[in-house]
Amino acid sequence: PCLIRRAMAVRARDRGSEGCEETGELIRNYHKQAFEFISLALQIDEDENGDKEQAVQWYRKGIAELEKGICIQVTGAGEKADRARKLQNKMTNNLTMAQDRLELLAEGCSDHTGLSFSNGSLRPVAGSGAVSKKDTLTITNQSHVRPKNPPKSAPAAALRCIPSTGHSGRTGPQSNLKGPLARAGNRHNTSNTATASPQRKRDMKNFKNVDSKLASLILNEIVDSGAAVQFDDIAGQELAKQALQEIVILPALRPELFTGLRAPARGLLLFGPPGNGKTMLAKAVAMESNATFFNISAASLTSKYVGEGEKLVRALFAVARELQPSIIFIGENSEDSKRRGDDRVLVMGATNRPQELDEAVLRRFAKRICVALPTEETRLKLLKNLLSKHRNTLPQKELSQLVRMTEGYSGSDLTSLAKDAALGPIRELRPEQVRNMPADKMRDICFSDFVDSLKRIKRSVSPQTLDQYVRWNRQYGDTTA
Ligand code: ATP
Ligand code: MG
Repeated sequence: PCLIRRAMAVRARDRGSEGCEETGELIRNYHKQAFEFISLALQIDEDENGDKEQAVQWYRKGIAELEKGICIQVTGAGEKADRARKLQNKMTNNLTMAQDRLELLAEGCSDHTGLSFSNGSLRPVAGSGAVSKKDTLTITNQSHVRPKNPPKSAPAAALRCIPSTGHSGRTGPQSNLKGPLARAGNRHNTSNTATASPQRKRDMKNFKNVDSKLASLILNEIVDSGAAVQFDDIAGQELAKQALQEIVILPALRPELFTGLRAPARGLLLFGPPGNGKTMLAKAVAMESNATFFNISAASLTSKYVGEGEKLVRALFAVARELQPSIIFIGENSEDSKRRGDDRVLVMGATNRPQELDEAVLRRFAKRICVALPTEETRLKLLKNLLSKHRNTLPQKELSQLVRMTEGYSGSDLTSLAKDAALGPIRELRPEQVRNMPADKMRDICFSDFVDSLKRIKRSVSPQTLDQYVRWNRQYGDTTA
């Protein structure tokens, strides 16, 4: 199920990043097709009783699609071209992993760690490589994470696994891989002589070094609930968006510009009252930057697995490092996120209780951005967006009035309010009327529905609480706005 969820997330993202430019479209289609084939392969591969021959066939098909997509020449500049190239980079990574796996399968080569982390049980060698790769592929496809604590050593054993040469299907397109791979290398600050394959291998080894139970736990905690979020979906929050551009998106697009003093911050804290877009921002940035996104709850790092916390964090960063660039998003209680190492891993924390963070933690989050309640302007935009799914017949005057009446409402309060108001026309009908009413005969949502709902749906953040954020922001946050 986890797999499917992730797969769907990818598709949703792909849809989101449309950009009808033909080349991009074509590449995306290959990517999608490849993803489907490889997902199938992985499913079989993961299954201990799966028919490996069959898995091999699906891998081959997936690889062929990836190669076709990577071959396509993307010309020109601009956002669409950048996206297409980024997708090709990703496909190149996937290709390497799929080929590696295929090679192992074909050779019946056993992995050297001897452990698998697929389902928490320790399994003898043969199965483990498959599983890890599969998960790797899946995650890579989907979102963003950055690992924090990279295991430093790349033991020789890792290198033993380097595929000799491909009888796997590494054919013509390989030369085409050089561009994207080289770029990917730069991005990761690896030496420019490093080829992607050993890098990949080393990561793989690290990945395998991760305790199997923890690794599967991490993979299961990697959440991308499916709904792709784009920056444009988020109303307001300009300061946060700008900071995220600087720290994540632009460096991902132009790594060569962001070196030395311009090296992007490694830690970012989004704080502010609940329900105003912290989580949305994190998801959007993950999507826009094509990073792997590890969305992890603090609860899973602490309470649920008491005693495993430190180990889990270490493992999390190992996995994230392999899939870098990555964003590790910790939804709550950011004190769990200690950043280590020097990889392309951004730790993004979000909290609505910044006061509880101690100063040692704060030091790790050099950037601290307040995600505040929506302004009047933003509330207007939000209301219009919400109503746009229906026929919005509210005149501007009434909308403005609603904006004033919802002072202090958070983004999610407004969403709840609009949902409640939308039920207004339904509430005045009897159940049997609702049952028989043609959809287009339903009356529109009107001002009085909102007035009615205002009695039911109140603001959820008190002025006193807000004041605390303001004070905390003054002392610790980014106050350029
Ligand atoms: P918490 O502190 O409780 O984790 P959060 O800041 O992470 O809250 P989100 O989960 O990002 O809040 O937002 C909750 C919901 O509120 C969103 O799914 C969305 O429907 C709505 N929402 C909040 N802020 C915005 C916004 N700026 N633009 C559009 N929708 C918003
Ligand atoms: Mg949240």
